[in-house]
Amino acid sequence: MKITKLVVHCSDTPDDRDISAEDIHRWHKERGWDGIGYHKVIKRDGTVENGRPEFWPGAHVKGHNQCSLGVCLIGRNCITSGQLISLGKVIDDWLLKYPDAEVVGHCGLDPGKTCPNFDVPEWWISVKDIRKYSQNGVND
Ligand SMILES: [Zn+2]
Repeated sequence: MKITKLVVHCSDTPDDRDISAEDIHRWHKERGWDGIGYHKVIKRDGTVENGRPEFWPGAHVKGHNQCSLGVCLIGRNCITSGQLISLGKVIDDWLLKYPDAEVVGHCGLDPGKTCPNFDVPEWWISVKDIRKYSQNGVND
């Protein structure tokens, strides 16, 4: 299995509710699935929790589960800065293992969805830009 996509989701739950990987695991089981479909979950305060192990294909994006890893941000409309910092770290970690993988939002692979309700490729470009400028700034 070659991972070519790193897919960002949101849990589509109210922003004032903190939900854990364990809660999602239970919900997905109740739907008759094999437990949590994401590989990582990022709580409102930025805590990263493990979902499904990476060697086990996820169940989070129609048609792309065999070639992707999925991370779920808890919330719906307003993702916290702590969550975005943790998301950057999760993606960095995955890109070390799968350097050619593309960073996308769920809606980028399934146009019927709005998840995760922000433009993931644009966010990722801005993170890389900020890193580049701050590195250059120190040396110039
Ligand atoms: Zn999604």
